Amino acid sequence: MQGIVKAIKDKIDIIDYIGRYLPLQKEGSNYKACCPFHPDKNPSFYIKPSEQFFHCFGCGVGGDVIKFAQLYHKISFGEAVKMLAEEIGLSIGSKQTEENTQEEKPSIDQIIAYVETCHQYASLTSYFADRGIPTSLIDKYKMGFDVENNAIVLPIFQDGQIISYVRRNLDDNKPRYEFPKGHKGIPFNLDILKDDLQTNVFITE
Ligand code: ZN
Repeated sequence: MQGIVKAIKDKIDIIDYIGRYLPLQKEGSNYKACCPFHPDKNPSFYIKPSEQFFHCFGCGVGGDVIKFAQLYHKISFGEAVKMLAEEIGLSIGSKQTEENTQEEKPSIDQIIAYVETCHQYASLTSYFADRGIPTSLIDKYKMGFDVENNAIVLPIFQDGQIISYVRRNLDDNKPRYEFPKGHKGIPFNLDILKDDLQTNVFITE
C-alpha cells in the first residue's frame, strides 16, 4: 500500500494541488497563502515544493498533500488516499465488491478478491499496530483494511481456503460487525484450532 501513497506523492504536485484551492504567492523558492485553517490576514501558510510539504506558522498545521486533502475536505486519511488515488487513475478497488455485497450474495471469488484487496491496504490503518498485532500475523491470516468503509477485514478460513470474512467497522454509526450478505456469520476461525498442536486456546474480545 505504501505504493499507492508514494504514487500519489510522486504524481500530484503539492503546489498544483493546494493552488486549486488557495491563491498562492511565490516567495523565493517557496509559496505562501492565507491559511485556510485559522483566521489569517497576513499569509502565514507556507509550502515548500522541494519537500512537497506545507506548514502554517500561525496555527501549526503541516504535512504532505494527503494531509492537506484530509484537513481541507474534512475527510479521513483513507478517504483522502482514495480520492487522490482516483485522481491519478489508481483504484482502491473495494467499491465494486462492496456494491455487489449490498445487492446480492457475493461469490467466493468476489470474497477472496475483496479480502486480498483489503489485505494490500492493511498498512493504511494504525489499528493493528495499536493492538500490538505484528505484520507476520497480519500476513499469516490475511487481515486487511477496507479503506472505503473504514473497517478491519478478517477473513475466515476453512481447510485453508477463504470462505467468508467478518468486517469490523471502525465508524460508530455502522454496525460493529458485518458478514458478507447471504453468508452466515461464522464467528471463529476454526482452522486455527487445528494449528500447531495447540493445547490452550484463549478467546478474547
Ligand atoms: Zn494556519
